[in-house]
Amino acid sequence: MSGFSSEERAAPFTFEYRVFLKNEKGQYISPFHDIPIYADKDVFHMVVEVPRWSNAKMEIATKDPLNPIKQDVKKGKLRYVANLFPYKGYIWNYGAIPQTWEDPGHNDQHTGCCGDNDPIDVCEIGSKVCARGEIIAVKVLGILAMIDEGETDWKVIAINVDDPDAANYNDINDVKRLKPGYLEATVDWFRRYKVPDGKPENQFAFNAEFKDKDFAIDIIKSTHDYWRALVTKKIDGKGISCINTTVSESPFKCDPDAAKAIVDAVCKSFLEKGHTWGLKHMVLNGEGKYFFEQVFETSCMHITM
Ligand SMILES: [Mg+2]
Repeated sequence: MSGFSSEERAAPFTFEYRVFLKNEKGQYISPFHDIPIYADKDVFHMVVEVPRWSNAKMEIATKDPLNPIKQDVKKGKLRYVANLFPYKGYIWNYGAIPQTWEDPGHNDQHTGCCGDNDPIDVCEIGSKVCARGEIIAVKVLGILAMIDEGETDWKVIAINVDDPDAANYNDINDVKRLKPGYLEATVDWFRRYKVPDGKPENQFAFNAEFKDKDFAIDIIKSTHDYWRALVTKKIDGKGISCINTTVSESPFKCDPDAAKAIVDAVCKSFLEKGHTWGLKHMVLNGEGKYFFEQVFETSCMHITM
């Protein structure tokens, strides 16, 4: 158990849907900035954004305060990845390593392209289908250098340390040996997944070959350094929200009450706009405070304040 928990607001697959992360005390935190990169020595945390076999493109909202997970929107529509024959949705649990950032102002020596402005992506290959917003600990096994429309977009290959088979996976060659075809499918998936949306095929550095564990860890560490420069304001993150509750050297650090006020304000703003809420409704209690009421209905209620 990681000690972290998640809290959903609004109904999944709506524009208002958010997954906020909380620490072991139940206080709101940023999954981007407040979850430590390391779970243990050489073991990394991973924020699960997209469970395996699902299609909704959920991601850490880097520009929103406290960086909740929300569904990506493209051209005014909620984004789903197509099922690429013969796959169904994402073929791994997909997410990000916290406290990392692919700096768009840094030209990567391996790819010749700048970073994609997001935390580094992870494909987790274990047997369990993880939950959206789950925080797991992973062993890093290798990395793929994807180039997406001229941006560097590293894809870390990792396995959940709690996977029953995790002891057998220690480097990228173990994936080749024990899950034949999975890495080839991974390249094929990333190459083609935007084609159904009218985009070109993605490219790869290193002739689309995976680099090993040591190389991957070096890349992750470099993205951790860029993140630290970002959150300490040594680099201007432009629209990125660096509000956090734990990074002592960060000028963006706030206290738990301020973090709660952010969550309340974000959710209140949806109510004031008259958005539709699903299974969890926001209610004004007798003390003038908002709280959420779980209701067991499949229909959505429309609340306008
Ligand atoms: Mg990325």
